[in-house]
Amino acid sequence: MTPPIRLAAVTTVAAAAGRLSDRTRILVFTGAGISTESGIPDFRGPHGLWKRLDPNDFTLERWVTSESFRIEAWGRRFAPDRPVYRPNDGHRAIADLWRTGHMIGCITQNIDGLHQAAGLPDEGVAEVHGNASGIVCYAEGHDVDVDDVRSRWEDGETDPRCAGCGSILKSTTVLFGENLPPGAVARAQGWTDGADAVIAVGSTLSVYPAAYFPLEIAGRGDPFVIVNEGPTDHDRLATVRIEGKAGDVLPELVGALIAG
Ligand code: NAD
Repeated sequence: MTPPIRLAAVTTVAAAAGRLSDRTRILVFTGAGISTESGIPDFRGPHGLWKRLDPNDFTLERWVTSESFRIEAWGRRFAPDRPVYRPNDGHRAIADLWRTGHMIGCITQNIDGLHQAAGLPDEGVAEVHGNASGIVCYAEGHDVDVDDVRSRWEDGETDPRCAGCGSILKSTTVLFGENLPPGAVARAQGWTDGADAVIAVGSTLSVYPAAYFPLEIAGRGDPFVIVNEGPTDHDRLATVRIEGKAGDVLPELVGALIAG
């Protein structure tokens, strides 16, 4: 049974804009929900991937030990009919907030690159769960040319290996059981230390350690705005909790902040 939404005291865009209007170092924390309007399913929403897939299948151990799992994953990644996803109004609103100097940065749990596709520069994003665009040599960290791996896969290598050492290759996404990328975590922690407010969007705030970043800011007493469809694990802590789609709420909220 879905638990009831625990509403924060105030729930309107105007209230959120009021609490954020004097803030210039807002941290935006995003989860899979911001990309559902681009056609990418989330994990735990009503149509989430965990309704039909088992999270235990997406572990580092499985990747390292199961050739058939890797073959399937490379097949999905390089499939010629793989859909191309585009950013939506939620991603674009965050890029606008950055451009207008209100934001310290965006910590994202997403691996889809849609913040950057919407115009947020690389230096404005910390991808704490990695990204789906790169490939690494698992054993020795040799540089890997993604186009070369793709063309070898197209030539019939179903489980392409590192050209330098022959070890298995792996996407730069973070699998369960894998450490988070240290560079992204350091950047995220720096922004968390320097932020004067946080907006969490499209996340159940249930995946750790990522969720500690917004919670740390909320814990200092700075404004904590949640924009989400459905409950999160931390609605009780929100200064303002807005129930709604990121693609509807964020343009309105960002518009109000830019208008001052
Ligand atoms: P989650 O699946 O736990 O939660 C997503 C939340 O967003 C749910 O509460 C859902 O109801 C809500 N939501 C769905 N559509 C929304 C919308 N249009 N507007 C506002 N809210 C919406 O996701 P999470 O908290 O990010 O944690 C899960 C993990 O999922 C993360 O580690 C992330 O790496 C991974 N993931 C990423 C992608 C991606 O890159 N796009 C996709 C699936 C999962």
